[in-house]
Amino acid sequence: MKRSFIEVKSESHFPIQNLPYGVFQTKDKEPRVGVAIGEYILDLAVLDEAGLFNQTGVAQKEVFSQPSLNAYMALGKKVWKEVRSQIQHLLSEDVPTLRDDSELKEQALVLQSEATMLLPAEIGDYTDFYASKEHATNVGIMFRGKENALMPNWTRLPVGYHGRASSVVVSNTDVRRPMGQMKTPDSDEPIYGPCRQLDFELEMGWFIGEGNQLGEPVSIEEAEDRIFGLTLVNDWSARDIQAWEYQPLGPFLGKNFATSISPWVIPVEALEDFRTAGPNQDPKPLPYLQTDKQGAFDIQLEVHLQGEEMEESSKLAVSNFKYLYWNMAQQIAHHTVNGCNLRPGDLLASGTISGPDKESRGSMLELSWRGAEPIQLPNGKERVWLEDGDRLTMTGWCQGNGYRIGFGEVTGKILPAHGNVSASKGSMVKASK
Ligand code: CA
Repeated sequence: MKRSFIEVKSESHFPIQNLPYGVFQTKDKEPRVGVAIGEYILDLAVLDEAGLFNQTGVAQKEVFSQPSLNAYMALGKKVWKEVRSQIQHLLSEDVPTLRDDSELKEQALVLQSEATMLLPAEIGDYTDFYASKEHATNVGIMFRGKENALMPNWTRLPVGYHGRASSVVVSNTDVRRPMGQMKTPDSDEPIYGPCRQLDFELEMGWFIGEGNQLGEPVSIEEAEDRIFGLTLVNDWSARDIQAWEYQPLGPFLGKNFATSISPWVIPVEALEDFRTAGPNQDPKPLPYLQTDKQGAFDIQLEVHLQGEEMEESSKLAVSNFKYLYWNMAQQIAHHTVNGCNLRPGDLLASGTISGPDKESRGSMLELSWRGAEPIQLPNGKERVWLEDGDRLTMTGWCQGNGYRIGFGEVTGKILPAHGNVSASKGSMVKASK
């Protein structure tokens, strides 16, 4: 097994097999690009200045001394492969270049605990899919009844919508409970007030590297080559606002107040050993969505909740990325089949990843079955929706033999709505007639 001269514990998310990219900042360093290794960040701008990437496609391009990964993402798969291979070489236990150069190590290695992680990319566009059959079925049953749970198009194409890029935030950013308009089932009139049905959505996201020209679709065979890397996504959702606004044009203010992502972007190359077959697709997709290549990845996912009154967090759900019905390549092929252009730094997300068991439901809406089955917490309390002060954390990893390809975590705490000290139980204002 490949090892680094830097000590990496077996449960660490960041062994030499992973090497995820992120953008970080310290007291004396401007934002720049690094990779995670054990408890450290390797500063790629320092290695580049030292000439250690001169034999790769990033030479003289200064892509690592920038506050986003976009310029590097745009260089494409061949360059990412060269750079990754060089970083893996430099970190290897038997390579002296960095290992024995204490001055360079001093400059290039930063403790993660001493750095602040920033958004990894300047996200031009964010698209959210709805690619888990279990999730779509659960939500369909609750909102439209069992007979109409899955729309006729759902098994024919990866349903998605254009989300909001400006409100994508990096892990550790607090999220304010949104205000909005909603209609309760027992009232004829809509009301305005703080959201009372605040939820999370367990998703995976992927960043587009090399884009495509407007009018030029990306074929399913090429689609995976456009993926720079993967990240954890919590697509916060206001269910009451969503339920009232979503017809006929789909999600809007119930979704666009915040989407949280983890700071580390895991290269597809690091996930190759965990590639697996996805669910059987019946009916067979149209030819532009057909591929023989296995397109799913075995990534274990967990969701944890810690309320203000709780001493430690409690596990709410356990799911897996491999449950996803439509894979990433199919989603990219579908997104671009009409000629829509994707650009470096665009974020695509899977939609809530629910699995076959009750425990694998990827949202509170499903876990509590819209309030019918409240979630029991270890301290004897219950939750149906998120309350003010709740901290929601998602994590994920691929389990290798003696190592983990980890995603770190995406976490965020709920702040009370503006002007409402205890918003989740706050007063509601009725709209005037
Ligand atoms: Ca979503």
